[in-house]
Amino acid sequence: MTLASVLPLTSPALDCSRYAKGLYIGGAWVAGGGIPVVDPSTEAVLAEVADATEAQATAAVDAAAAAAAGWRATPPRRRAEILLRCHKLMLERADELATLISLENGKALGDARGEVTYAAEFFRWYAEEAVRIAGEYRMAPSGSNRILVDMEPIGIAVLITPWNFPAAMATRKIAPALAAGCTVVLKPASETPLTAYALAELYAEAGVPAGVVNVITTSRPGPVTAAMLNDARVRKLSFTGSTGVGRTLLAEAAKTVLSCSMELGGNAPFIVFDDADLDAALDGAMVAKMRNAGEACTAANRFIVQNGIYDRFAEGLNKRMAALRVGAGTDPATACGPMITRKAVEKIETLVADALAKGARVTTGGQRPDGDGFFYPPTVLVDVPADAAMAKEEIFGPVAPLYRFETEDEAIAMANDTEYGLAAYVFTSDLKRGLAISGRIEAGMIALNRGLVSDPAAPFGGVKQSGLGREGGIHGIAEFMEPKYVAVSF
Ligand code: NAD
Repeated sequence: MTLASVLPLTSPALDCSRYAKGLYIGGAWVAGGGIPVVDPSTEAVLAEVADATEAQATAAVDAAAAAAAGWRATPPRRRAEILLRCHKLMLERADELATLISLENGKALGDARGEVTYAAEFFRWYAEEAVRIAGEYRMAPSGSNRILVDMEPIGIAVLITPWNFPAAMATRKIAPALAAGCTVVLKPASETPLTAYALAELYAEAGVPAGVVNVITTSRPGPVTAAMLNDARVRKLSFTGSTGVGRTLLAEAAKTVLSCSMELGGNAPFIVFDDADLDAALDGAMVAKMRNAGEACTAANRFIVQNGIYDRFAEGLNKRMAALRVGAGTDPATACGPMITRKAVEKIETLVADALAKGARVTTGGQRPDGDGFFYPPTVLVDVPADAAMAKEEIFGPVAPLYRFETEDEAIAMANDTEYGLAAYVFTSDLKRGLAISGRIEAGMIALNRGLVSDPAAPFGGVKQSGLGREGGIHGIAEFMEPKYVAVSF
């Protein structure tokens, strides 16, 4: 792959270079050096985006600071109308955005379309929340004064997002931040920056004033981000990514005692009880495992299946996984696109080899295909031992490992045997048992007899080392506000 292989026109309908005009600071494009954006389906370079320096990161904070007072003073109704226009424009351009996501991330077009709808919905939800921000006014218990609490925008927010949902991870932060009255600097992952830049232009068209949303990309996220986090004007860090990078950023943020929201890694258990509806469990398994080809923080990472249904579940899962078509994300026939990088494929190969060496058996897939692109096939592993590395680590790919259990207590102990606590899935026909188990599983989100938890109207987030805070729902906007308390005597 060389720069000579940069393709100005990547598909008849989409010229990716038009999303790579430079850093987006203060409503203007600032041209700069190149970070190649690679199509994981072909390994061709789609475009080159600008590579921000520390000084340019500070310039982005300058722009956010210059726009802060005006945006904070913009009436909530007006902010809501602008957010609604963002929602509308995203849906109007859903095909273009989905194609762009699919090109730079590799995900199948169906997944990309689903992401656009999900991502856009954050604007509609937070348009509705922007006008319902409530404070408090009540008598102090002593009776000597009133307690007045106003919710204020927290201030300038730095938003850092991963590559696996290039649109949704950004809008899940930008929409509540803007609804709350904050201005932001977004640093998207350099693997998938084109969607973030395409959306920056769309926000401007929807009426978001210059400087309210700034977008910068960098090949040196550590120092460039540190330049912003150490800037006293910045008051919020909202990060989505791996637990390892999250820990590093929490340490950096400690220097300025920065408010942090952290959406980190997961290791979701998918528990199937003997009494589960088998077809529903299999449908759920395919969504929980294969949405985004397994590259999701909520992806089922461990299928924990009771002995009485284990063989039937394994047989059904093998059939469904083997039937999936692997191919380029933008090919409408594709069900499972490539992984994001070669390194990601190699990590999956290492985890599978480790499980096999410890006694697991492959019943579907397991072999990387030859040729260009970062492909790994849908794979099922049975009888995976508890000491396999993949029982502890995020696979982040289309590999479904099956573990056995006998008793309910055993299943819960297995589910909770992880440093993570993001999502969990439970399948049982006994709702009473399902709810009781939901209470015992250490996770921020439980899908009961369903394969999907994400919903812009619900609080998304994890416990343990899966994160701090929540995004979405009525909770997501609170992450971008501070209560201001006034003790009132009269
Ligand atoms: P990552 O942690 O490698 O990168 C995330 C972002 O952090 C990127 O923008 C990256 O450029 C930036 N970054 C990397 N090192 C940095 C540093 N030292 N300082 C500042 N920024 C830095 O994660 P990824 O590989 O892009 O994404 C996959 C991970 O994200 C998985 O662990 C997944 O579970 C997690 N994730 C979590 C959620 C959630 O909501 N909990 C959602 C999606 C993904």
